[in-house]
Amino acid sequence: MTSSEFVGTCGAHRETYPKGRRAVDAYRAFHRDGTADRFEGPTLPPIGRTEVEGETIKFTLSLPGGVETESVLIPMRRRTGELTRTLCVSSQIGCAMGCRFCETAQMGLVRHLAVDEIVAQWHVATHQLGHRPKNIVFMGMGEPTDNLDAVIPAIRVLVDHDGPAIAASNISVSTVGNPEGIRRLGELAAEPGFHRLNLAVSLNAPNDRIRAEIMPVDRAWPMDELMDAMLAWPGRPKSAICVEYVLIPGVNDGPEHCDEVCSYLRPLRCSLNVIPYNPRRDSPWPAPEETSVDEFIARSIANGQFTKRRGTKGRDVMAACGQLGNPEIRARRRVADGSRVELSIEGFRRP
Ligand code: SF4
Repeated sequence: MTSSEFVGTCGAHRETYPKGRRAVDAYRAFHRDGTADRFEGPTLPPIGRTEVEGETIKFTLSLPGGVETESVLIPMRRRTGELTRTLCVSSQIGCAMGCRFCETAQMGLVRHLAVDEIVAQWHVATHQLGHRPKNIVFMGMGEPTDNLDAVIPAIRVLVDHDGPAIAASNISVSTVGNPEGIRRLGELAAEPGFHRLNLAVSLNAPNDRIRAEIMPVDRAWPMDELMDAMLAWPGRPKSAICVEYVLIPGVNDGPEHCDEVCSYLRPLRCSLNVIPYNPRRDSPWPAPEETSVDEFIARSIANGQFTKRRGTKGRDVMAACGQLGNPEIRARRRVADGSRVELSIEGFRRP
């Protein structure tokens, strides 16, 4: 709940809960200090596992039914030397999108996460692990636009001034490129207080032929529809969409691919974020050579495209980009809400 929803609920149960200003204070104490002694507090899911590689921490939360969320605290060293952390949160357990380079895709969709299960990942990172994240990215397990009914309310809680109070400019939602989902997120970004919300789009290919090979969703949402949706993104003035490009050897890393993707992106104000592929379990492809990553980035910059490289952290604990997903849960794959998406042997079908 946002603070105003919480105050409203308390008002409706006056005998049990604090009311008015005391309700706001209780909400603040819960989110800001992690204490719930002013009312009968909610129960947080227990931490399942934590794995540490350097300063990167991957942790899971155990949910009823033997399933678990996965989140990653990623260290970011500023030029000033200050260490901040970005929290990568999951929006679903598993994912139905079937991207071939992604570990999570191997699980299929187990179920959507509820609003509190998303916010709990921030709460546990901050108050139990003791690392208050500066930024939040919806880049963990799941496709956020497939669960916007929980993701949008979770963002509202995370930016609540009386709650976690994270600036919308420090929150990024990454999507596989669902045009309708981008439109709904755009409605949120058009609201006061949310116009600096960041959008990241997982492109990963220069054309529909290659994209459909590695991302079955391209058959439902081709790149021209995706471009129309990105061009309509409201955002703040001068905002740039982050276009993610996982560089996979022999698939999308050639000079001709680089030129084609730069030409596709030309109408858009965006930053191209090149991510060296992190091999998933049983991956058909290796990680790219450093030279091919450097050459791709240099060529993209020479083409006039603003381009950055995303550093790889957490590879050893399967916490790096595209590596989240518990192989033990794969065997229990089921789609809880079959009305939303369906993954079949032929690939992705639009709901
Ligand atoms: S890359 Fe993202 S959208 Fe694609 S399968 Fe993995 S979690 Fe889902």
